[in-house]
Amino acid sequence: MPRKVLIICVDGLGPDYLHKSPSPNLDRMAAEGSFQIGQSVIPSVTNVNNVSIITGKPPSVHGITSNYYLDHTTGRESYMESAEYVLCPTVLQRARAQGMSTALLTAKQKLLRLLDTGADYSLSAEKPDKQMIREIGPAQDIYSPDINPWLFRALRLVLQERNPDVAYCSTTDGMMHKYAPDQEESIRHIQALDSILGEIIDDNTDREVYLTADHGMSAKSRGVDLEKALRSEGIEARAIPIIKDRYVAHHQNLGGASYIYLQDESLGEEALGILQSCVGVEAAYHCEAAARRFDLMADRIGDLFVLGDQQTVFGQFETVEVPVAVRSHGSLHESAVPIIVYGSRTEHTYHRNFDIVGQLGID
Ligand SMILES: [Zn+2]
Repeated sequence: MPRKVLIICVDGLGPDYLHKSPSPNLDRMAAEGSFQIGQSVIPSVTNVNNVSIITGKPPSVHGITSNYYLDHTTGRESYMESAEYVLCPTVLQRARAQGMSTALLTAKQKLLRLLDTGADYSLSAEKPDKQMIREIGPAQDIYSPDINPWLFRALRLVLQERNPDVAYCSTTDGMMHKYAPDQEESIRHIQALDSILGEIIDDNTDREVYLTADHGMSAKSRGVDLEKALRSEGIEARAIPIIKDRYVAHHQNLGGASYIYLQDESLGEEALGILQSCVGVEAAYHCEAAARRFDLMADRIGDLFVLGDQQTVFGQFETVEVPVAVRSHGSLHESAVPIIVYGSRTEHTYHRNFDIVGQLGID
């Protein structure tokens, strides 16, 4: 029988969301398969991790280091959201090269464009085709609590009707940005996903299902403006918010990691010292050290890389430090992710979310 593989990235699903919500089908997958807490890629943001999961490689190989990026040579800023930035094949491409059929489903249209190389069929919940709307109901707003359940219903239908050999599905984290794990809205959201997942598994118990996340989520209470912190010591720089994307409503572009582009690169050592003693900063690195430590691509991460502590997000504010109330991610504190494996024919140990595709045997 041909192999059927489904890989799911539940955006923002830190392990605490699973602990707080009764999720019998995820429990069943874990009991009959395996459950581990693994690590996301750092910075713990969506695009970097989705591309890592779908390629099975770290950013040093695939090149996606941020949602948003400043080209040092041209000075041009852009969103890293189209497939031209991805420097190695996705599992969908590799599967297709072996004659397998493939499908890609995402909540956000932008993520679809980043990941869709090699997809025979692709669909985003944000802009679905008319046929899917006829089959499972009207498309949901990207910030609607039903966007991910809608996407899972679409996934189930695609699996039933097209039966692709390899499918990748990625949700959106709007609900996790809004609600803590123990809030009723969160619990309902996880239960809705769990229930459709149970149906998907029962439809074909021979399908291998791999479920992980791109990052977790933390409540943040402190905002820090790194550009102002450097300027107060006489250093001009741009601090690029790694989390920045076009869907700003849920996190206001405030995230727990930042790339620093210095106007005068010779001031790197001095700037590093200032940042390392700055409030809210847990660690700061020269770009080469950061690239080595976190498997990043040195020429796509600016001059310095800064990680916040658990309470801190970086952004542009009136003063260096301000109180904020936002749920966000990007730092080391949102790097724990579940890795649930069901129906795999071989046993593996998974340390990082991208080990799933790395160990699938579709090369
Ligand atoms: Zn995400």
